[in-house]
Amino acid sequence: MPEYFTQKGDKMSLNFSENLVEKAVAKEDISNYSPSIGETLASSNSISAIAGEQAIPVNQLPQSWQDIYLGKSNTKLSDPESYVKMAQLFLHKMSRGDVDLFNDSESLEHLKPAFCEIFGKLAWEALDFYGEDFKVDQYPNFDSIEKELPPGEDYAERQKIVEIGKALFAEFGYDLPASFYRVHLAPIYREDVSEVRPLRFSEEDRKNARAWDASLHGQKVFPIQLMVQSISSKHGFFQEHGCGCNHAMARVGATDTSFEYQIRPEMRTTWIRDFIWTIWYEYAFFKFTPVTKFLVG
Ligand SMILES: [Zn+2]
Repeated sequence: MPEYFTQKGDKMSLNFSENLVEKAVAKEDISNYSPSIGETLASSNSISAIAGEQAIPVNQLPQSWQDIYLGKSNTKLSDPESYVKMAQLFLHKMSRGDVDLFNDSESLEHLKPAFCEIFGKLAWEALDFYGEDFKVDQYPNFDSIEKELPPGEDYAERQKIVEIGKALFAEFGYDLPASFYRVHLAPIYREDVSEVRPLRFSEEDRKNARAWDASLHGQKVFPIQLMVQSISSKHGFFQEHGCGCNHAMARVGATDTSFEYQIRPEMRTTWIRDFIWTIWYEYAFFKFTPVTKFLVG
């Protein structure tokens, strides 16, 4: 039994033994895949199965994920084994072309090697990033950020943005990646907290755009967005994000109203997993998205 499962107490151990279905099941012919992906995967020469679906073995994941699996990573995920399994499934689907595009029809089979090479690489980049982004030292220190807020007439508004960040962290903690909180704090570093910033085309935000945009798009998992907007609205803001990747915290107007929302406890795990899965593929697809300044305005 991996080290970290024995460190987490009875509940986690029970959970682990109930859920563990992963085992190497078969050798797979990788001759159909592109050379680079084939080379990457040839060293394992095996696949795993998770919940009846094929998955990449743990030892073929980025090092940061192998460390999470072994309990060697400085992360505080409340359910690390599920995250590792998602990473195994995600990398398999992307690097082996296990997607509807190929599963539903054979007419595109000849494109599969190209897909596997490109998306295998992008999926790897995504996992590599998030394996690091879940580490505790990546998260913002809300208290010190609040202390360092520059005095000024909009001090109170910047403080509210920090309060939203704290409330989000109280809700989701280390189960959502650091970049999820970083993008929420981004407006305090703008000239006006309500400035609309096109992430991709902004000199200041461009370097963070891929992860920040992924976090914002992850909110297509509606309950997560409802939670974010509920918390924000109670502090006088709504979060805005459009397809041109504009990002802003809009002030709650005179005719708007804050609202109360709670994630149903029995659905919490599902929505968080959905969110994590979505930000991974959004991060991977970021450079695939057709973008134009025409939409940014
Ligand atoms: Zn976007």
